[in-house]
Amino acid sequence: MLLTVLPLTGLDRSLAYAVPEAMQAQVHVGSLVRVPLLNRTELGVVKQVGSDEDVPVKKIKFILEVLYPTPVLDGQLIRLGQWMQRYYAATAETVFETMIPGAVRQQTAPKMRSLLEVGQILPDEEMAKLEKRAPKQAELYRFLQQQIKPLPKGMVLQRLKVNAASCETLVKKGLVREFAEREERVVYKDDLAGSEMVAAHEVTLNEEQQAAADDFRASIAANEFRPHLLHGVTGSGKTEVYLDAMRAVMKAGGGCIFLVPEVALTPQTVGRLRARLERDGAKIVVWHSHLSAGERFDAWFALAKGEAQVVVGARSAIFAPVRNLRLVVVDEEHEPAYKQGETPRYHGRDVAVYRAMLAGATCILGSATPSLESLYNVQQKRYRLNRLSKRVDDRSLPTVHIIDMRREKLRTDGLQSISQTLADKLVDRFEKKEQSILFLNRRGYSNSVLCPECGFTPECPHCAVTLTYHKTDDRIKCHICGYFEKLPPRCPKCGSTEIRKRGSGTQRIEEAVQRIVPRAKIVRLDTDTMTKKNLFRHILGDFRAGKIDILVGTQMIAKGLDFPNVTLVGMVDADISLHVPDFRAGERCFQLLVQVSGRAGRGDLAGEVIVQTYMPHHEPIQFARRGDFDGYLEAELEQRREFHYPPFRHIVRHLFRGRNPDKVVFYAEKWAELIEEKLEHPVEIRGPAPAPLEKIKDTYRFHIWYFLGNVSKVLPDILKLRKDFPMDEEVIDVFDVDPVDMV
Ligand code: ADP
Ligand code: ZN
Ligand code: ZN
Repeated sequence: MLLTVLPLTGLDRSLAYAVPEAMQAQVHVGSLVRVPLLNRTELGVVKQVGSDEDVPVKKIKFILEVLYPTPVLDGQLIRLGQWMQRYYAATAETVFETMIPGAVRQQTAPKMRSLLEVGQILPDEEMAKLEKRAPKQAELYRFLQQQIKPLPKGMVLQRLKVNAASCETLVKKGLVREFAEREERVVYKDDLAGSEMVAAHEVTLNEEQQAAADDFRASIAANEFRPHLLHGVTGSGKTEVYLDAMRAVMKAGGGCIFLVPEVALTPQTVGRLRARLERDGAKIVVWHSHLSAGERFDAWFALAKGEAQVVVGARSAIFAPVRNLRLVVVDEEHEPAYKQGETPRYHGRDVAVYRAMLAGATCILGSATPSLESLYNVQQKRYRLNRLSKRVDDRSLPTVHIIDMRREKLRTDGLQSISQTLADKLVDRFEKKEQSILFLNRRGYSNSVLCPECGFTPECPHCAVTLTYHKTDDRIKCHICGYFEKLPPRCPKCGSTEIRKRGSGTQRIEEAVQRIVPRAKIVRLDTDTMTKKNLFRHILGDFRAGKIDILVGTQMIAKGLDFPNVTLVGMVDADISLHVPDFRAGERCFQLLVQVSGRAGRGDLAGEVIVQTYMPHHEPIQFARRGDFDGYLEAELEQRREFHYPPFRHIVRHLFRGRNPDKVVFYAEKWAELIEEKLEHPVEIRGPAPAPLEKIKDTYRFHIWYFLGNVSKVLPDILKLRKDFPMDEEVIDVFDVDPVDMV
């Protein structure tokens, strides 16, 4: 019996191995095996039973071990991995290492711990003897007799100050029983939903929800690949519809994958899914970054063995070995967090759709602000659209006020500040004992240029992205095509000399707010707070409990949170996202405003949203204010079409890095010339241009952009040329397919 095995080393090719007689029953496609390779032993994944390779039989080595009786990947996952390899220009090794968690590769089964319980019953007279002869043993025996359940050995011996030898004697006599148990048995438990109260009550779906639910059930029953886009305004009850679909799948004995952008930011959704599905008897694995290696190990095998049917988690949960996969849900599908920033640079949503396709499963992408890519797929009739247009309780969406920061009298100096209108409303809410949230823009990118008098920002005439200031030569540059100009001393539009680099001093906002409402309890929630997971949860808990009046944070707090007493939401710097040198800047700005507005007025109180901007007439802001999705879509698509951006083309970004900028530029240019000349496909190439962050830690960064129609067709040919290209040792290059940010 021969196997095709992919060793997980730097080799990046499959090899043929033979299987010893005794192991033959244990190996399947997707089994993890240990194989000899050169003079080492390595882990490998069985890609195929049998081998197409023409190797002399004598040269074939035997596998050494089959790691688990259960395969770690199934045939579909292997095909998924092979597709990712091609599509994302990643090595087989990095792909499969991403797919199989470290805990499984390293066999980090949870540690065993010893438990003690009382064994044979000792008659009274024997007990008396024992007390005299060995008082410590007697003490231990009596203690265990009084317990209702077994206790950890270490803890008992320490507490009673009994030594291990005494314990062992008792065990030998059969008076005490010692046995081992897995230390961590928390596959189904998780601590995230802990402090956040979870509403687990049943609801009756409203008409719109029911229509969507019926459509999903029909797809699930059809048992074939059907992608849906669930476009539902914030608070329209999307989660209830997902739940209905998941239940239908459970009932049919199928499995589900439910993806969220980040588990820690969506505690309410995760908590609700778990509470409701577990009540139905399903077993759920919540896959998040705080799991220990042992927990990951258990969770993974619970799914692989079919003991758990549902996995909820961030992007890597898409690789979970769920059995009989019938449904894949991607919540907040528009979120850039689904894209992985390092190799393999896959997009969790796109991989999810592909996996659903391989499995012949239903796929639901859900969002209040779907990505342009998904909306376009609806237009092209590739996805079905299901819409939830109303909030569940018929509450109206909040009133949105746009504040023109060019006119507004500012409370403090500097560009980023609180307008008089916003200040007044903050005071008003505080006096009424209602809560407010202020959003700052995480995407603040300080190297853009802004005229505070008229709102003008210079853009590239060829690429429609904001030009970025580069200190090295005092120019503003396009980071896609390389176009540049001198930094204008006066605003070209209004002539003001005030035009300048835009700053983003977020910390100052908290201080400014404190000056406006000195008695209010204000808490800032930012990336620093985020890293301490308990602190983050505490703050949200306190806010919900009304112990905090004003929460100041980046848009991460816009996600999936539901605070009934919040009646005012302020966007302090709404247009900063428009200044990011990214063709998706408008889309992000629109999404952010819609999402943020959804946070106001979720309880019985009406909500109000204040949007501060220097560009009040900019399309994304205007469309968001009116909640005009179709208008926005049309305008945005038109611009994308004109400049050949996604969804009309795919973009591959090719980044070159190195310590010597001349070398990096030289090789990037030489490569670009080669591509222009040799590549046979019609590909539009822009660049090389400096990346917006041209220099990070003494490393210079330049990139080339390929605009192309079909990644799977063109990329392999680019890679072939790359293989033969004599790149300098000091220049490192990476490909990023379908990039979501441009820095
Ligand atoms: P979304 O995910 O679309 O923002 P949610 O699913 O979080 O909305 O629903 C918002 C709130 O409305 C939740 O508290 C949910 O329990 C409640 N809800 C959803 N559907 C219904 C319904 N049909 N009847 C009553 N309450 C509902
Ligand atoms: Zn101006
Ligand atoms: Zn340009």
